[in-house]
Amino acid sequence: MAVDGDWEELGAGVFVRRYQFFNQDIGLVIGDDAALVVDTRSSHRQGREIQDDIRRLTPRPWLVVNTHHHFDHTFGNGVFAPAPIWGHERCVTALERWGERSKQDVAREMPDLAEEIAEVRIVAPTRTFDRSATVDLGGRSVELRHLGRAHTDNDIVVIVPDAGVVFAGDLVEEGGPPYFGDSYPLEWPATDVALLGLAKGPVVPGHGAIVDAAFVRDQLGKIEAGVAAARRAHDEGWPIESAVRDVPFPEPAAQDLLRRAFDQLGGEASASADGRSNPGRE
Ligand SMILES: [Zn+2]
Repeated sequence: MAVDGDWEELGAGVFVRRYQFFNQDIGLVIGDDAALVVDTRSSHRQGREIQDDIRRLTPRPWLVVNTHHHFDHTFGNGVFAPAPIWGHERCVTALERWGERSKQDVAREMPDLAEEIAEVRIVAPTRTFDRSATVDLGGRSVELRHLGRAHTDNDIVVIVPDAGVVFAGDLVEEGGPPYFGDSYPLEWPATDVALLGLAKGPVVPGHGAIVDAAFVRDQLGKIEAGVAAARRAHDEGWPIESAVRDVPFPEPAAQDLLRRAFDQLGGEASASADGRSNPGRE
């Protein structure tokens, strides 16, 4: 099969293309009848860029899957509609609740992007599920699974059984730490264990280079260490700051992991642990 130089073919008709913006990985699984696009990037403009790149590979109609609700995975949805968009049912809830707010936050934090963010129409998944779904692409099918809460409450993975490829969304990140800002650190390790049970070959992270099960196991170990540090500090009544050095991630990620773990562990720490209420941090 002729392959555009920028798409990497991981298995027959299974492609990934890494975009410079956010070092993000976009997947494409081509069947006889349709092509499944994994995530749509951060704006209509970026979504159209994906479409142009897809059209160099296949003329098939597309379907979309959103690995979770974060803006860099869903804000391009508008240019793919009315094609079916698959996602977890809580991805819909999150986009309805946070989508417009997220547009404002992104425009403020990334002024260079403000203009294209302004034209984004929030479009939520139209095909939803809780635990699992199968998408028939003609001659091959793809499995969608929610393995538990982790990076968000609506992470799903995309499994291409006939090619042995798994798209993990932001359950796994390469080239930088995972993002813990609205995560569920206490449940993340079990979700990663379930992912490892499915990872027989290449694992495509949400951002960064293609990895394998060993990389996932290593990142899982770091998250477990972070959760252990959070439990220790929480049990002893220590402040979050005392545990930062025991979390094997750089400081902003470590802080987020601890804050969210404390929130999950409950108790008096959650209010003061919220970095957003501290004027010293954004
Ligand atoms: Zn994310």
